[in-house]
Amino acid sequence: MTISHIPAAIQSRGSALIVGGGIVGLASAYYLAKDGWKVTVLDRDDFTGNCSYGNAGMIVPSHFTPLAAPGVVTQGIKWLFDSRSPFYMKPSLSRSMISWGLKFMGHANEKHVTRSAPYILALNNLSSDLYAGLASDLGNDFGLTRRGILMLCKTEKTWEEEIHLAERATDLGLKVDVLDRKQVQALEPDVELDVFGATHFLSDAHLYPPALMAALQKQLRQLGVALVSHAEVTGFVRIGDKIARVTTADEEYTADTIVLTGGAWLDQLANKAGITIPMMAGKGYSFMTSAFEGKLRHPALLLEARVAITPMGGQVRIGGTMELASINHRINRKRVEGIVNAIPQYYAGYELPMPDEKSVWHGFRPCSPDGLPYLGRAKSISNLIIAGGMGMMGLSLGPAAGKIVSELAHEERTSADIQSFDPERFH
Ligand SMILES: Cc1cc2nc3c(=O)[nH]c(=O)nc-3n(C[C@H](O)[C@H](O)[C@H](O)COP(=O)(O)OP(=O)(O)OC[C@H]3O[C@@H](n4cnc5c(N)ncnc54)[C@H](O)[C@@H]3O)c2cc1C
Repeated sequence: MTISHIPAAIQSRGSALIVGGGIVGLASAYYLAKDGWKVTVLDRDDFTGNCSYGNAGMIVPSHFTPLAAPGVVTQGIKWLFDSRSPFYMKPSLSRSMISWGLKFMGHANEKHVTRSAPYILALNNLSSDLYAGLASDLGNDFGLTRRGILMLCKTEKTWEEEIHLAERATDLGLKVDVLDRKQVQALEPDVELDVFGATHFLSDAHLYPPALMAALQKQLRQLGVALVSHAEVTGFVRIGDKIARVTTADEEYTADTIVLTGGAWLDQLANKAGITIPMMAGKGYSFMTSAFEGKLRHPALLLEARVAITPMGGQVRIGGTMELASINHRINRKRVEGIVNAIPQYYAGYELPMPDEKSVWHGFRPCSPDGLPYLGRAKSISNLIIAGGMGMMGLSLGPAAGKIVSELAHEERTSADIQSFDPERFH
């Protein structure tokens, strides 16, 4: 076994070792390297297969409500018995799952939503601004498009609920248009919509995630960041209140600051460092289609079906399903069918063929039980920063998380209030 000492950069603030090469890890590397840190990123895979690639590519200040919200539990129980449903929590006797489920239920209330919304929104707004900076620095090779997101409602009931949410969003400072059927159809003149109405969140945006990840990696290499593939972190050696060494099968690494990301595996990583972080993987699926032939102008959420549809590079990506369960790589064809069947219910005439199994991507959203990120310094380990648990909005929040990681590393005031995101809040 060799020991790699990560040398400090010349004008350096020090050296940083990041575990996990998803959007949160790469964005952290970007802001740290920009600030003069000597950065190494370790990933168990090859930086191409994580959740940050196949997602729906939506940048969503509109998502200021955490997953743990009123009504989710009742709806989830109803959906338990529908094999094509978009939300599913696998019943299990595992202690960690029961404990996660109880915490989730304890937070699915109005008080939690009202308290958390401004902090989630502030983080999302920060990220949205940072995406503008990334687009100019990386040459917007990743299709960042600011056309908002349509929330399509099939029923009057959903539309009324959305109007209520739109009022709340407006109070929080977001720009939202409420559209009747004719108005939303006018925004999508080349397809026939079969909906009651919509809301249009104008502050939202979309991009092409694989292009973003590739552009970031290219930039990181230019900044001198080492991206190390097939380096699964298996343990941490602590000396006093610090992590002295990070262990993989082949090597040990030392650095001044350690940043744990790791997506849906953050709990396992943190556990190795002696920190408890409740996490559940929320499996989702996506696939690409050329069926819309460039006719779709806006990304949209098909609200009743919980399906996302996003124009990307001439094609369209369709994604959905939240299966909360222990990590497994099975593709549940019934749930993919649920996604496929939803499309013609909103876009008349778009009966799509079932994609074959090879064309269906799956990924694991890193879900905390209160629906809030984990972002902050560890209390008992002085050189450890934790960033993850961003659930359904990790792509959106990635740059803000990365920026804040760099500020924490400098012991600076953070650009957003992260008190509610304390990684050890469930201790
Ligand atoms: C269908 C679907 C649609 C989505 N749509 C959107 C959307 O439109 N907008 C949005 O904001 N979000 C969306 N998301 C969520 C978003 O994709 C995730 O929240 C985000 O990608 C998580 O990023 P991450 O960096 O935390 O984790 P990941 O991208 O999963 O990266 C974690 C990395 O850590 C590595 N790792 C784990 N353990 C170890 C170890 N021991 N050693 C070394 N490396 C390790 C893994 O190999 C992986 O590369 C969607 C998710 C799904 C499934």
